Amino acid sequence: MEIKITKTANPKPIPQDESTLGFGLKFTDHMFLMDWDEGEGWHDARVVPYGPLEIDPASTVLHYALEIFEGLKAYRTAEGKIQLFRPIENAKRMNRSAARFSMPDIPEEDFVEAVKALVDVDSAWVPYGFGTSLYIRPFMFADQVDLALHKVKHYKFVIILSPSGSYYAEGLNPVSIMIEDEDVRAVRGGTGFTKCGGNYAASQRAGDRAMAKGYSQVLWLDGVERKYVEEVGAMNIMFKIDGVVVTPSIAEGSILPGITRKSILEYLRAKGIPCEERKISAEELMEAARTGRLEEAFGCGTAAVISPVGTLAFKDEVYKINGGKIGETSQWLYDTLTGIQWGKIEDKMGWVVPVK
Ligand SMILES: *Cc1c(COP(=O)(O)O)cnc(C)c1O
Repeated sequence: MEIKITKTANPKPIPQDESTLGFGLKFTDHMFLMDWDEGEGWHDARVVPYGPLEIDPASTVLHYALEIFEGLKAYRTAEGKIQLFRPIENAKRMNRSAARFSMPDIPEEDFVEAVKALVDVDSAWVPYGFGTSLYIRPFMFADQVDLALHKVKHYKFVIILSPSGSYYAEGLNPVSIMIEDEDVRAVRGGTGFTKCGGNYAASQRAGDRAMAKGYSQVLWLDGVERKYVEEVGAMNIMFKIDGVVVTPSIAEGSILPGITRKSILEYLRAKGIPCEERKISAEELMEAARTGRLEEAFGCGTAAVISPVGTLAFKDEVYKINGGKIGETSQWLYDTLTGIQWGKIEDKMGWVVPVK
């Protein structure tokens, strides 16, 4: 793939105080764009100065939500190297999302090349502190000018970058979550396994209601039987019950197959630590909590890596997990994954990829 690079004449000052970066608030000087037209495929791959996109009010995405995205990070190691974590997995997942929406796929090597090219141009924006990163947001949308929604003949693929602060500036604080028993996020045969804007739109109300009750996220139940736990807001969920790490199976297609989730399972298996992917009912969880066998619970995803759950609520029952503190397996997984990502621990799994 040929990428034309046009650098900005007006670079912005790079934020110096990394403690105020937050997440997804600031954006770098450049973005990657390419267009897809029926008959022509992807064309005009380019890195251009960051700025607003012009969108026609009749553009398909604004009406019918044909939008998918990805999320990954670039990490700066203590030696000053910049590296990515399993970017090919993001490329593959983007294509699985695209297929679900009849959107065009992007050759995996082109996806990774585009990410690398853009991060390289804005490499000075990768923050320095441990736990800080350059968040990478690739996304694709339909921007045909047409309310009829016939076969879409034009798509755009864009990548933007956002320097992000340490998720745990104040330490790994366990969060409170509640099992949502009214709204559902996804159903079998639906779009749960894709990273699409629409899934987030459908999750918004339950998230707001949970926040109003003092919980930071909801734990979704399956949309069919409303019995089995699936995942939290933007993270997969894992539990340690009777010494075994268990996580909901993704076989039904209603759960997002997280790369962090996959990496944890692969790592546990490589170390011979017992783990299971299976259905986990809310009732089984609450029973384990009642009898003290629910030893740990944690969300996992690119943004937080590991997010320990300190409080779990379902209907009228509220339980503290591990005394509301992070458990030893959660802490060990956090230290291991972040160690590999930020280059403090040797990567024996072959997961990190240098940008250059
Ligand atoms: C992105 C995402 C995850 C986590 O996936 P990672 O690849 O580990 O970042 C989990 N659930 C949902 C709904 C997501 O959008």
